[in-house]
Amino acid sequence: MPTYIVLLGPPGAGKGTQAEILAKKTDLAHVSSGDLFRENLKNQTDLGKLAQSYMHKGELVPDDVTINMIRERISRADCEAGAILDGFPRTPAQADALEIMLKGFKGEVNLVPYITAAEETLVERTSGRWTCRAHGHIYHEKFNPPKQSGICDVDGSEVYQRDDDKVETVTKRIRVYLDQTMPLVAYYRKAGKLAEIDGTQAVEQVTKELLSALKK
Ligand code: ADP
Ligand code: ADP
Repeated sequence: MPTYIVLLGPPGAGKGTQAEILAKKTDLAHVSSGDLFRENLKNQTDLGKLAQSYMHKGELVPDDVTINMIRERISRADCEAGAILDGFPRTPAQADALEIMLKGFKGEVNLVPYITAAEETLVERTSGRWTCRAHGHIYHEKFNPPKQSGICDVDGSEVYQRDDDKVETVTKRIRVYLDQTMPLVAYYRKAGKLAEIDGTQAVEQVTKELLSALKK
């Protein structure tokens, strides 16, 4: 049976950083809804053009297009063993759709690590975040700078500051998260799938706790 892990947490909690590490340590694919949207934006696809205005404002892209995008992504061969879902689901409707989707793959959501951090930490992290153009590798100007300034360690591409990582937009995104995504915490807790993890700890410690939750 495939394994599906849903990383839940506010913007800047460390989902993408941990998903990248976990994907390397497991045979699961890293599926980031934000990265998929940014890829579409870069290639100016119809989906990218549609998503752009929502992302720019710090709002969620409508459920139907988001769900279709994820369905297509997790149907690909590299998700046969399962996936680490980073940034999806973000609304109750997306969580319901995911459940139905995974039944189709004879699987279910196995674990939901919920990574938490205080708002000032989230703002400090997102405002210093640098993202790689080619594949979305994640850096921080203070906490995790690339070896060579401005250049991704992994693929040598340019790193840039996301337009929605401005403080005003981040504050909006945190509000959107509290309104629309927080209900999923209760939903997955009730289902006995939630593993709460303190995201203010060092990256290595967060990884350790994630791996230990996975083993259980
Ligand atoms: P973060 O790093 O803050 O968690 P993401 O890269 O996951 O941010 O998301 C960036 C933007 O992409 C969101 O603000 C939203 O506009 C859009 N987005 C990403 N995932 C979803 C989703 N599951 N549903 C709707 N919109 C999404
Ligand atoms: P999310 O995907 O939840 O929005 P990211 O993984 O992109 O979060 O992390 C946000 C920013 O914080 C990035 O710049 C990243 O390098 C940094 N970061 C992630 N985890 C930690 C941590 N445990 N300690 C310090 N900085 C971190």
